[in-house]
Amino acid sequence: MKSEPLILLDGTSGGGQMLRTALALAMVTGQAFRMEHIRGQRRKPGLMRQHLTCVRAAGEISGGTVVGAEIGATELTFHPGMIRGGDYHFAIGTAGSTGLLFQTLLPALLHAAGPSTLRLEGGTHNPLAPPFEFLERVFLPALRRMGADATISLVQSGFAPVGGGIMEATITPCGNLNPLALHDRGDLRALRIRVPIRNLSAAIGQRMLDAALEMLPCEDASVEPREPGPGRGVCCLIEAAFEQITELTSDFGEQGVGAERIGARAAKNMHDFIGSRAAVGRHLADQLLLPLALAGSGSFTTMVPDSHVPTNITVIEKFLPVKFRITEATRGTRVIAVAGR
Ligand code: ATP
Repeated sequence: MKSEPLILLDGTSGGGQMLRTALALAMVTGQAFRMEHIRGQRRKPGLMRQHLTCVRAAGEISGGTVVGAEIGATELTFHPGMIRGGDYHFAIGTAGSTGLLFQTLLPALLHAAGPSTLRLEGGTHNPLAPPFEFLERVFLPALRRMGADATISLVQSGFAPVGGGIMEATITPCGNLNPLALHDRGDLRALRIRVPIRNLSAAIGQRMLDAALEMLPCEDASVEPREPGPGRGVCCLIEAAFEQITELTSDFGEQGVGAERIGARAAKNMHDFIGSRAAVGRHLADQLLLPLALAGSGSFTTMVPDSHVPTNITVIEKFLPVKFRITEATRGTRVIAVAGR
């Protein structure tokens, strides 16, 4: 049997993103990896259903083999095969994030020989993950600038903890991505606040919206009842369109947390972004690292990064011959740049 070198990864310092990045890069580069201590310091370490679905989907799309893919597993080995474009349907089975599953599969499908469609079922609006609108308005437009050809549509919203959401995607291969430099965002052109809500009283949504408006007054603001569907939920989405980029901050309804607090948190995040003068927000920053590294070079200005940035860089630098540099820039912003080694 052919033995190939395994890339060894330690997941102790990060979360599911380290695994998703490894899966994406394994598929694109054809390199196998073994990860130990997956989500090592999380309250419940190891694979949860959303991570397991990413592993299985990556296996299916790349004709790969996996050893150790079980709920709760803290180590696994993944050997990718050949990426196959096609029509795929993956159901997470919980409210786990369809957006994070989409981001795991997208780089590989952009490198496939033919086009693909995805139908992903799970959560579309859940805490600690990009809501559908973030992917549509912020993440994909940035990738399109790099040459990616992908569109997404929301079939049904799915709020945590029940899920039941569906998103679909169409991906046309583009091969290698082009480098991207995002340093200036330009002037603020429009601000918009939406409070999607399902099976909860409209008054809850209105309180959330009012709290957000108190910090960020704007005219284009409304509570938006979502189509009938399973479970209930509410979130606050704040979108700022600048000349060069769009940013969207969000926060999600939680049992025991007042609606006002959720609205205020989403608004505070946007307020901080506007004040920072950075071109790229905190979440897009860690999500752009992989596409930029695949392009071989690029840079952007951002806010002080959170821990996703260093942990994601650790994984990327194991797979690709690139080096990241983070430097301080004006007004407390940072420049993150990647170049070939
Ligand atoms: P874990 O439970 O181990 O933390 P996870 O797989 O749920 O794992 P992370 O590894 O923390 O998640 O990765 C979450 C990803 O979701 C990151 O890319 C982060 O930037 C992104 N994200 C979180 N909240 C938002 C948000 N409100 N808007 C956009 N992106 C978000």
